[in-house]
Amino acid sequence: MRVAIAGAGLAGLACAKYLVDAGHTPIVLERRDVLGGLVAAWKDEDGDWYETGLHVFFGAYPNMIQLMTELGIEDRLQWKEHTLIFNQPEKPGTYSRFDVPDIPAPINVITSILRNNDMLTWEQKIRFAVGLLPAIVRGQKYVEDMDKYSLLEWLQKQGIDDRVNSDIFIAASKALTFIDPDDVSATIPLTALNRFLKERYGSKVAFLDGSPTERLCQPMVDYITERGGEVRLNAPLKEIVLNDDGTVKEYLLRGLNGAPDEVLQADIYVSAMSVDPLKVMLPQVWRKQEFFQKLDGLEGVEVINIHLWFDRKLTDIDQLLFSRSPLLSVYADMSNTCKEYANSDRSMLELVLAPAKDWISRSEEEILNATMTELQKLFPQHFTGENTAQLLKHKIVKTPRSVYRAIPGRQAYRPSQKTPIANFYLAGSYTMQEFLGSMEGAVLSGKLAAAAIAEDYPAPTEPKKSPVAIGG
Ligand SMILES: Cc1cc2nc3c(=O)[nH]c(=O)nc-3n(C[C@H](O)[C@H](O)[C@H](O)COP(=O)(O)OP(=O)(O)OC[C@H]3O[C@@H](n4cnc5c(N)ncnc54)[C@H](O)[C@@H]3O)c2cc1C
Repeated sequence: MRVAIAGAGLAGLACAKYLVDAGHTPIVLERRDVLGGLVAAWKDEDGDWYETGLHVFFGAYPNMIQLMTELGIEDRLQWKEHTLIFNQPEKPGTYSRFDVPDIPAPINVITSILRNNDMLTWEQKIRFAVGLLPAIVRGQKYVEDMDKYSLLEWLQKQGIDDRVNSDIFIAASKALTFIDPDDVSATIPLTALNRFLKERYGSKVAFLDGSPTERLCQPMVDYITERGGEVRLNAPLKEIVLNDDGTVKEYLLRGLNGAPDEVLQADIYVSAMSVDPLKVMLPQVWRKQEFFQKLDGLEGVEVINIHLWFDRKLTDIDQLLFSRSPLLSVYADMSNTCKEYANSDRSMLELVLAPAKDWISRSEEEILNATMTELQKLFPQHFTGENTAQLLKHKIVKTPRSVYRAIPGRQAYRPSQKTPIANFYLAGSYTMQEFLGSMEGAVLSGKLAAAAIAEDYPAPTEPKKSPVAIGG
């Protein structure tokens, strides 16, 4: 069957990939001229890549790893040493590490916490461990129930020291959701922690060996098109046109550069757009249904991705770093972490500015100046004294609406991939799946949408490949 999918982010592409596996014919429609949505990347005038976001993969991403294996590109994941590295604001230019030994989970993660003496005292470690016990013992159900609390409220309820909050959870919360612990739902960091405590390599980090657009999205497009599907860029969905019974009749695509609008008909329709454009496009009659009304409880969160190219090497650390800065979240020297961006003489820092609510409408100059001030704390040896590092160029990518804002209570608003409309499905990392607003969540949501379609509309012909297991 023909399945029209609006949105060529990871969710839309994964959905199309699994639909061709199930014997269907997907047509993916992307409004922009670039693949990938929130993982989209571009080349500047010098041929250097810049990206919507600094992206890392975790060992606890079963569906992403399986997808890359099926595409034959799993070797593009560059796995790093099993460690989490935090800057120490009180000792500028120094780091505190949680080195995870290669022994079974959860002892490996627990050992890394017990061994770290810079960030936590013994009393804090014990309180922290006791506070986490219910999450470990009672599992994901408990973790989901904690969605009613902010992380800060939950930590206070567990009697966990404020220092643990400021030291570890602000960093984790900003890295996972781009918001602070007093805003973020407790479910988010607890979900991540639970995974890290369950899986030996769950917290191990990998970087892609190049730009996500070329190295991850393009192989998905090739896979889809080689098997009869289609992926069209510059094809914005303008309207979801309905039949009298409220099912989808057709997608109306906006004609660009003076071209007329185009009608696209299929048997089944999927929205793999992010939640904000979907809400705008919902047909009036659907808005009366509770399923679609709930989407009003979801909206994308602001985030800014900053790229700085320097005239020298600032660090040789080949890993993600948690800045613990009020302005910034995580950062990495991509000249060390990513094969295609490698440079042995010069650093290219990619830094995530979050929370970005108060920064999203500020000028590039203001953002750049504030970031450079933070760098004096992160790399004092290169930004104080006489021979300071020189910034060669920069790129700043602002995303006013990225992943859904994961404040308390949002789990109840996240929709299933199957909707009350017989021929309309949803994919996107905001839809319900346990990996939250992540690349893994996007891939899983696309896979779940494809599985729901394959179940409701089995392909008349033999599937080209047997359906694959959904990792969880
Ligand atoms: C700065 C940043 C850092 C991140 N870091 C990480 C990380 O380290 N690890 C991780 O796992 N995740 C990370 N994420 C999250 C991850 O990128 C997202 O969860 C994931 O890519 C979302 O994919 P998606 O397909 O659900 O949505 P999107 O990527 O938003 O895709 C939606 C697509 O729909 C298209 N679209 C919208 N409207 C229309 C229309 N009318 N017609 C046609 N197409 C339309 C959009 O252009 C877009 O391509 C990060 C995100 C950002 C922004």
